[in-house]
Parts: sequence; structure tokens; C-alpha cells
Amino acid sequence: MPAFGFDHSYARELPGASVAWQPAPAAAPRLLFFNDALADELGLDARALREADAAALFCGNTLPSDAQPVAQAYAGHQFGGFSPQLGDGRALLLGELIDRDGRRRDIAFKGSGRTPFSRGGDGKAAVGPMLREVLIGEAMHALGIPTTRALAVVATGEPVLRDRPLPGAVLTRVAASHLRVGSFQFFAARGDIDALRRLADYTIARHDPELAGTPDAPLALLRAVARRQAALVARWMNAGFIHGVMNTDNMTISGETIDYGPCAFLETYDPDVVFSSIDTGGRYAYGKQPAIARWNLARFAEALLPLLASADDEPAVRHAVAQAMEVIDAFPAWYDAELLRGQRAKLGLASEEAEDAALAADWLALLRAQRADFTLAWRALADASQGAEQPLRALLADPAAADAWLARWRARCARDALPADARAASLRRANPWIIPRNQRVEEALERATAGDLAPFEQLLAALRRPFDENAEFARYAEPAPAEVTACYQTFCGT
Ligand code: AMP
Ligand code: MG
Repeated sequence: MPAFGFDHSYARELPGASVAWQPAPAAAPRLLFFNDALADELGLDARALREADAAALFCGNTLPSDAQPVAQAYAGHQFGGFSPQLGDGRALLLGELIDRDGRRRDIAFKGSGRTPFSRGGDGKAAVGPMLREVLIGEAMHALGIPTTRALAVVATGEPVLRDRPLPGAVLTRVAASHLRVGSFQFFAARGDIDALRRLADYTIARHDPELAGTPDAPLALLRAVARRQAALVARWMNAGFIHGVMNTDNMTISGETIDYGPCAFLETYDPDVVFSSIDTGGRYAYGKQPAIARWNLARFAEALLPLLASADDEPAVRHAVAQAMEVIDAFPAWYDAELLRGQRAKLGLASEEAEDAALAADWLALLRAQRADFTLAWRALADASQGAEQPLRALLADPAAADAWLARWRARCARDALPADARAASLRRANPWIIPRNQRVEEALERATAGDLAPFEQLLAALRRPFDENAEFARYAEPAPAEVTACYQTFCGT
């Protein structure tokens, strides 16, 4: 296969952070999905790749000549418990490409077979969960939420054994990087301060180059990551996204959403919603996500601590801990500010008033009390802004319950300079009509697993245009019956 133009800065600059490894061969590869737009962004010739044997390429049977696959090492807190060694148990980084905008992007396989980090796992992935990652990732991207994305999915032609045999697949993932909180924890847990320092330098050069060489650069890195995560989680919350497995190995340094396992979108608004079958304690419930992000950032701060002060200098350590705590303690305010920024847009407000946070909070309280569909209720504000309140009222158990809030919102809008048409248009840009509804996702994946890709492709087309009200896609905008959502469970897909 021709060269892709890969660089390998991660493997080259971070000895001990990865192991060279090869993908397992696939018996009968078949291309299920290819992301032409993303290939183009990466400067790859999508047409040529499709015409060449894309299936053989994107399952790893014939790698680009300059790929140097490695399995990355990382540690992580999973559901609160620390594992000093996790690592890529079923993933391989092929290399990095500089995209058309000059950004370095990782190209990695997921589901390409066992690695030295596989522990008890088979290193494989199934078609359903990999196409799920495509759907949710593309939906997130279309919603403007930073995310890793899928470049390709290839069915391997071999079964993988889960609770039953399922068709196997390999996904090619594109990420700003695969650096995560757990990458730092890996070296911190080993007390390998030199490697930890190299990792911090590498990370800063890659994600925060303006910090390179500044005093207190590791502390500034902590602050930058905390700010990115505050912005990211606020976007999740405003979209009704539940990640489902916010372990520290699944929290990126780049601020992209990663690891679409048991994630799902809210339908009826309720902060306590949990869909993941393994999250029995509700640790990663929708409403807990900001607090968990902060908890994860505290683990990141702990991992960075040896770079902030030398362990044998007690006053310096105390000072460093206080500085790190300042960042961790600032996180809730950063998050609140990001959340409110998004909420103002979702309320159709161009100006800022002190009472806006209360207006948004009372709106959410109304949705909760009325068991309203989160996505459609926000969307209905666009019609309400043009005088049509019926679509909103129809979503509420008691339509009159909205009276007082609507009056307040109208009065607030009247103090905002935006003309009515412009407000309605901006509301329709801030509040999606279509999200990946669980029932529709499951239906598409079931059919794809059985060999029929048409429902997957139709749903994908709808998810890529979430703000357009297109009659053709109306069925994707409908909430599932409450009984269906109440019983809905997601699985890690491992
Ligand atoms: P995740 O929950 O997907 O973030 O995965 C947590 C850890 O389990 C990571 O180290 C993964 O590489 C590993 N893992 C997940 N699924 C498998 C699998 N089928 N085989 C080997 N390792 C896996
Ligand atoms: Mg993971």
C-alpha cells in the first residue's frame, strides 16, 4: 500500500509509552463505512482509497507502507478504582497525519486484535458497537461538540464472541491525540519522573505550544485541560449527552470526547438518568458528569504533582498542592460559565443579564417536573419565539405549567435587541431537531449486524444535519415511548 505521509512523534519522543505491535489479519474484510469528508480533511485521496482495496487497508491486512503501529500504555481510575496498567488492549496507533489545517491527528485502529495490554480481552470489536461509534461521533461533530471521529469501519468476516457470536469489525479512529489523564497516571504510578516530564513536554508542544518553556508550564497545562474539559462537559450537558464511562483513561487532554461505549442521549429530561448496564451505582449519571470531570481533573493534578515540586521539598510540595487545588476549585465556576454561555444561545439570548442562570435553571426544573423530552422542548422555543406555543405545551404533562416561565422568558427576550426572526433562526441553530435517539440507533445497528446497512446510512444522513427540519427525517425526531426509554440499557461493547 502507498504511504500516507505518517509521522510517529508519539512513539519517537516517548520511549516506554508504547509497544510496537501488528494488527491481527482479518479473514474476509468488507468495507461498511468510509468517511469521505474526514478523509479529505486529512489530505487523503478518498476516491483513490475507495478504489484501492480500502477494506484490506482499514482492517490492517495491508497497511500503508509508512504505518508503524504501536499499542499505547496508560493507566486509569475505572469507576473510582485505580489500575496502574490498562493500555490499548484492542487498539493500535498507526501514526499521525498533519491535516489540511496544519493540525496533527492520530490515526488508530480499534478492534484490531490482542496486544500486550489485552489482559483477559480478545482484542476484538463487533460491528454493532463500531457502527455505534460512527453514528454518535458524527452526530457529536455535527452538533459542534469536539470529538474523535471514525474514518472507516471494516467487517472482518470473523465472529467475535460476546453473549452470543457477533460479526467482528475494525474501526479507524481519528483523534487530536490519544493522550489522556491515564497516560500521565501511568508514569506517575511508576514514579518515573523523567518519563512523566517528557510526556508533559510532548503534550504541551502538541496541544498548548504557547505554554512551552514558560515557568510553571505543568500547572498551566492542568489549567488548560481543566478549561477544555469545562467547555466540553458543558456542551455535553446542553446536548443531553451521557458519556457513560468517564474513567480517567477515557478523558482526553485535547478536550475531545472519546470512547463511545455505553454513551446515549437523554430523551425525557432527568438528571439521574443512567443507561449503562455496568454503572449500577449511577456514578456516571447525566447530572453527575460535571462533578466527575472535576474528580478526574484532581487525579490529573495528582499525576502532575511530581513535576510541580520535588517530593523531598515539603514546603514546595505544600505550595504546589495549593496551586493545583486552586485550579480544581476553579473548575465549577469555569463549567458554570460555559454552561450558561450555551444556555443563553439555547434560550435565544444575545445579551447577558444576571438573572439568566436562574431563567435557565427554572426552565430545566419545568422540563423535569413535566417529564418533557429534552431535545424537543428546547427546539420548541424557536416556534414559541414566533408566537406558536402549542408545540412546546404539547410536550408537557400539564401545558399550563409553562405559563409563568414563558411570560418571564418573553419579558427577557423583549429586553434583548435581537429581532424576532433572527432570534428564531438562532434558536434553530442552537437547539437540534435530531439527536441519535436510542431506539433508532439500536434499530439501525441490529439491521446492520444482520447485514442490512440501509437504516444505518439513513440515520447517519439525518444525524449529519441535526438542525434542519427535513420531513424526510421526521421519524428520527420522535421520542421513543416512555416505556422503551425506561428499559433502555447500553453496554460497553467490549
Ligand atoms: P474502555 O472501557 O473501552 O475504555 O476500555 C478499558 C480498557 O479495557 C482499555 O485498556 C481497553 O483497551 C481494554 N479493552 C476493552 N475491550 C477490550 C477487548 N475486547 N480486548 C482487550 N482489551 C479490551
Ligand atoms: Mg477507553
